[in-house]
Amino acid sequence: MLSLAAFSGSAWADTVTVYSARNEQLLKPLLDRYTKETGTEIKLLTANEGALLARLNAEGPSTPADVLITVDAGNLWLAAQQGQLQPLKSSILSANIPAHLRDPGNQWFGLSVRARTIVYNPQSVRPSDLSTYEDLGNPKWKGKLCLRTSKKVYNQSLIAMMINELGEAKTEAIVKSWVANLATDVFPDDTALLKAIAAGQCQVGIVNTYYLGRLLVKEPQFPVALFWANQNGSGAHVNVSGAGVTRHAKNVAGAQKLIEYLSMDAAQNFYVDEDLEFPANPKVKPNSIIKQWGPFKQNLLNVSKAGELQSAATRLMDRAGYK
Ligand code: FE
Repeated sequence: MLSLAAFSGSAWADTVTVYSARNEQLLKPLLDRYTKETGTEIKLLTANEGALLARLNAEGPSTPADVLITVDAGNLWLAAQQGQLQPLKSSILSANIPAHLRDPGNQWFGLSVRARTIVYNPQSVRPSDLSTYEDLGNPKWKGKLCLRTSKKVYNQSLIAMMINELGEAKTEAIVKSWVANLATDVFPDDTALLKAIAAGQCQVGIVNTYYLGRLLVKEPQFPVALFWANQNGSGAHVNVSGAGVTRHAKNVAGAQKLIEYLSMDAAQNFYVDEDLEFPANPKVKPNSIIKQWGPFKQNLLNVSKAGELQSAATRLMDRAGYK
């Protein structure tokens, strides 16, 4: 009955219900376009990822959700871990999304790349002073480094990836050296941190690049510059926003088609143009605002490690005194 309906394109099979933790302003126009092109109706429920996961868990097999869309591999990993997603066999997604940006078990797929790298005040710092995340713990940055709170999943993912690459002991020493260099208390968000660098309160920091992009759109002369970290080593830390088909999806075929669409040129450009993220699909070229930051080497560690090592990262940051 289920597969028959999915085949026949009956009325209910032409509806896909999406649970999304992404900004509705970003996603809605893209989904509207999908409806226009395919005739498939999309029902969209937007909430934060914690609420969506709780809802999926509470609804169980009766959930109306076919697709889960959220940010950060840590969150996608958690959804899969809690049994809320199902594996998808898609040659389109395998071709469009590089292996390091999707779940090795194919339960979720990165759809946009979010790079977390070093930013600096170009009036007091030269790019030649900068090199790696690790080096921000060098005593030369004493009293000059600003960081966002360790409670944010972006930083938990960054540290998780460092643990995977460098081991716990080395990563803990690095995080301790960062804490020793802090100019001030940790910031609640990346935008506040960028403004503190612009104001000269600190000289260097670590942010997701689209926050700098947003400030540059409003103020092209915004006085903070971007530096691609670890380019002579394993590359800059990247994370994803992404999607998966829910375990109890009623319209699996429709859900798969939608996720495939999001991996293709038109939708990829949308992520780039509207949210200043990098395309996950390497065949798509980023737009002019982020193009100025040039191509960069991404760390090719699978982003699922961010989820697997998230609690180890949280404990490590706690031990290191990173608030
Ligand atoms: Fe963000």
